[in-house]
Amino acid sequence: MSRQMSSLLAIAAVCVTLTPAPAFAAQTPKKAPVDCEQVKCIALTFDDGPGKYAGTLLDTLKKYDAKATFFLEGQYVKSRPAYVKRMVAEGHEVGNHSYSHPDFTKSEAATIKSEIQKTQDEVKKAAGVEPKLLRPPYGMADLQVSDIAAEFGMPMVLWTAGSEDWKTKDVKAIQKQTLAVAQQNGIILMHDWVKQTVDGMPSLIKTLKNKGYHLVTVSEVIKKENLEPGDIYPVPAGWEK
Ligand SMILES: [Zn+2]
Repeated sequence: MSRQMSSLLAIAAVCVTLTPAPAFAAQTPKKAPVDCEQVKCIALTFDDGPGKYAGTLLDTLKKYDAKATFFLEGQYVKSRPAYVKRMVAEGHEVGNHSYSHPDFTKSEAATIKSEIQKTQDEVKKAAGVEPKLLRPPYGMADLQVSDIAAEFGMPMVLWTAGSEDWKTKDVKAIQKQTLAVAQQNGIILMHDWVKQTVDGMPSLIKTLKNKGYHLVTVSEVIKKENLEPGDIYPVPAGWEK
């Protein structure tokens, strides 16, 4: 190769390297990823949605730069696809929580498979991605459910504690319960169809941040567990495989 040609190529290479970088950086400011083995992480997870108040919740999460995980029901993904698209676009995680919320431990294999597949399809249609985690309805699983989750390549993720929001439906009670059970790498069960959960979220996020928590997706929190498809976490009492 002639010297002139190689220096032209060198200039071209510099241009290719330098030009797109500032434009990209301006669009998506990159932050250092959070390492949940080093810092205090917590995963807020919202089940059964997208619920009626998902839009307000997404606004709050965006305002406070917090990430969450949504275990979605296919039937609501179908009726509220725009929320699901927004969840994914704004860096939240979406998981599969069945299509119509039957107890999988009382369901036929064919029903379980179709409940999972239909939800995968609806999420794909709404947001262009497929969930990688399964949360069986009511957190109920058995070996048949585990085998089917494995066929779909998905681990099952339950929760370390609940906010009991569906039971109390009271802003103060939800905050008190959530703060009482918050712990490092905790996975908190909440619902975006409970108005009081969404109403109290700004103050709850502020308090959690003041306590040093990083609000991250559930996959960040479980990374260190290296779950295989069909595994369940946290392992429920009496679970044998
Ligand atoms: Zn549920």
